[in-house]
Amino acid sequence: MTHRLFQGVAGAADRTQQLAFCSLYSDSRSRQQAAAGDTLHEECGVAAIYNHPDAARQIYLSLYALQHRGQESAGIATADGHHLANIKGMGLVSEIFTDDVLQKLPGHMAIGHTRYSTTGDSALLNAQPIRVDSTKGLIAIAHNGNLVNLASLRSRLERAGAYFQTTSDSEIIVQLIAHSSAGSLVDSIADSLSQVEGAFSIVMMTRDRIFAARDPRGFRPLSMGRMKNPDGGDAIVFASESCAFDLLRAEFVRDILPGELVMVSEDGVTSRQYASGIPQSSCIFEHVYFARPDSRIFGRWVQESRDQMGRQLARESGVPADVVVPVPDSGVTAALGYAEESGVPFRLGLIRNHYVGRTFIEPEQRVRDFGVRLKLNPVRNLLEGKRVVLIDDSIIRGTTSRKIVRMVRGAGAKEVHLRISCPPTISPCFYGVDTPRKQELIAANQSIEEIRRFIEADSLAYLSLDGLLQSVQDKEKVGYCTACYTGNYPTQWVDVEEILPAGAVL
Ligand code: SF4
Repeated sequence: MTHRLFQGVAGAADRTQQLAFCSLYSDSRSRQQAAAGDTLHEECGVAAIYNHPDAARQIYLSLYALQHRGQESAGIATADGHHLANIKGMGLVSEIFTDDVLQKLPGHMAIGHTRYSTTGDSALLNAQPIRVDSTKGLIAIAHNGNLVNLASLRSRLERAGAYFQTTSDSEIIVQLIAHSSAGSLVDSIADSLSQVEGAFSIVMMTRDRIFAARDPRGFRPLSMGRMKNPDGGDAIVFASESCAFDLLRAEFVRDILPGELVMVSEDGVTSRQYASGIPQSSCIFEHVYFARPDSRIFGRWVQESRDQMGRQLARESGVPADVVVPVPDSGVTAALGYAEESGVPFRLGLIRNHYVGRTFIEPEQRVRDFGVRLKLNPVRNLLEGKRVVLIDDSIIRGTTSRKIVRMVRGAGAKEVHLRISCPPTISPCFYGVDTPRKQELIAANQSIEEIRRFIEADSLAYLSLDGLLQSVQDKEKVGYCTACYTGNYPTQWVDVEEILPAGAVL
């Protein structure tokens, strides 16, 4: 698939300017993946540990806690100072890593990865960690995010003789390390990371060291923790979200800083800034939807952010109602905040079935709204005759929201008012969140009143951008990416075709 890539800030340029810029090849993996569903997907979660006698099992537990960040494939690589083992598979962490499999992963160091990806043969090939025997030695790497200058880097590396085994962003980073003229491995890694543009939180492992790094804008979260090694001393752990530390009984130490590269070896923990002076643009959607409420990311509890989003939503667009009902699970915390602020009682009026399999075969494909009814069921006695405020975290294409509104009304609700805990999603993400193309985003192409009519709600309101930004700020100010709500991308590369509104022709 060929796409025109625009170098510049998309929100600041009109289409004529965009088309005047260069045309390059991009495999545009994320867009291809954003196929059928009407929800957004994170692409990955990563974890690492140094100095634990049962490193593989600790990473297994970490990935278990990070499973919400990707359910299609998972992998663990371990090292014992001499050898490096790596096992990956398709499916959930608990399905792949049985006791027998974990026995095959010896060593006191490990990294792990869980991934949301497309289906098909390429999925296992691109599962991580990736293990590469490079000129700089054996390296295993796992990463969360999306590089946006992938195509230009790849063609440059291929001209320099690199042979790629996968289409993964991670392999680009390893090839850059292998081709770096810097002297030491850590210098080569810093050199490599400074050349890639986009979103990445990375864990890497050699036979005797662990590395962890975040991109200079800090798009994706990555935290460091510490736990007891049962044989004595401390183990150092890294994870995409701090909820993984709770399962390990590890103590949260700090976030890895944007542009920071941390190395852990027998000499202890060392750190360097490989990039600085670039404005932070952490993904605000992590607070809205992706991260778990029991995680602390970008210096703030996700639960606190979502609670504030709900409260702010009630202040901005409260409506007379009898009950506040969340769309589970991600709408629950915002709905609690909305209910407390508005004084309208909170009720679990929709129940989610957590055991819906990924390969469920629908027996009644022609039955309207079957997919949503499989996942959600209304609690009729809580909804019947009530004016209901439904709280959800996004409307993507609008089809799922319409099914949920219909479901609540079908259970006897007198009125259904939908409130969304973030602004309208008007632009796709290029930084590791699997969004549909702009043409398919309902808010990019229709007014709020048109969306309200489409989803058949009595009223519809979104949280304002200012309200969202206030909800995620703490004492220490954090710079956030809000591109999916504004179209203003913090990096230089965006895909022109992807940001075109409906009906536009190149
Ligand atoms: S575009 Fe949206 S989803 Fe993507 S990184 Fe920015 S805020 Fe997050």
